[in-house]
Amino acid sequence: MVSAQPAPPVRLTLAGRRGQPPRHLADLDLAGRRAAMADLGEPPFRAVQLSRHFFGRYTEHPDDMTDLPRASRAALAGALLPPLLTAERELSCDVGTTRKTLWRGFDGALVESVLMRYPDRVTMCVSSQAGCGMACPFCATGQAGLTRNLSTAEIVAQVVAGARALAAGEVPGGPGRVSNVVFMGMGEPLANYANVVAAVRRLTEPVPEGMGISQRSVTVSTVGLVPAISRLTAEDLSVTLAVSLHAPDDELRDTLVPVNRRWQVAEVLNAAWHYAAVTGRRVSIEYALIRDINDQAWRADRLGSLLAGHLAHVNLIPLNPTPGSKWTASRPAAQREFVRRLESHGVPVTVRDTRGREIDGACGQLAAQAGP
Ligand code: SAH
Repeated sequence: MVSAQPAPPVRLTLAGRRGQPPRHLADLDLAGRRAAMADLGEPPFRAVQLSRHFFGRYTEHPDDMTDLPRASRAALAGALLPPLLTAERELSCDVGTTRKTLWRGFDGALVESVLMRYPDRVTMCVSSQAGCGMACPFCATGQAGLTRNLSTAEIVAQVVAGARALAAGEVPGGPGRVSNVVFMGMGEPLANYANVVAAVRRLTEPVPEGMGISQRSVTVSTVGLVPAISRLTAEDLSVTLAVSLHAPDDELRDTLVPVNRRWQVAEVLNAAWHYAAVTGRRVSIEYALIRDINDQAWRADRLGSLLAGHLAHVNLIPLNPTPGSKWTASRPAAQREFVRRLESHGVPVTVRDTRGREIDGACGQLAAQAGP
């Protein structure tokens, strides 16, 4: 679409190049890495060697790269594996199987990621932005506003760090691998569209292109940016789409998810059903149960009738109250009734566990205060 009017300033897009972290191997596809090698005066096949170190062995250290000429190692690592995120703090709970990391970016921006080990899988919950511009009033990240988008490599680096810790046996349960990635940390992934989609490709392409995680094990969660959902539908990716609905009616959703004033419930769900039809993937409808706000039986019925017959399941999240919040989680009886009503409409429902609560690592709690 071409418009004579200059576009209004939008805080959702990347700032100027100066505000971006240094270029990293994971920002580039393999062709880009080969071109970068040529620029460095190295043979293009070094791109594969360096990629194997990063994506296959999770190392950035020149000393580990014994298949590279000693004279080139430091230069290659320096040029293509610059340090992006520095672990500022590490907190764990659930006997070490839930680990939250607070990361500091090159510019001081803070983001968090959470590793959750279950008997059958390891899920990394990653941030896509420092802060978030969506301003959902119940979400800790939403209170602080948006600082900046993360680069593709900054997103990938969170997963690589988890993979490295698992491979080294640092997480109780023996050496392991990251099996799942959820974009449910800080930020609105679809507001950082290009970097998030590139990160999904890096995470899911096989080594040496990427990390080799299954696309079906990646979940992109959104407030419902309809044009971006449509774009994602056309990407030919098999990732799970999660839509943070939180209310079946526009009146309430306008306040819980303010971007609803732009794209309303019906429009968001239509985009989601189109995604489901094209990809064959069941859409996950996220619904934080907030006591006496959105947990009424009639809202369960309304949600049930909106979703019945569609390729969807509901993920109920007991609200994690943020500091100072006037809202809290639903009463157990209200939650049980909500589940029962959804099931009576034939809609599959799960109630999300709230791992990491003690370390402020549970859903919606990531706020990145760098305290003492
Ligand atoms: N911006 C994306 C990712 C955000 S976090 C999105 O909105 O989908 C992932 C999920 O946690 C979202 O469904 C979000 O609404 C939910 N969430 C945020 N704060 C929460 C809280 N305090 N308690 C429970 N869930 C919360």
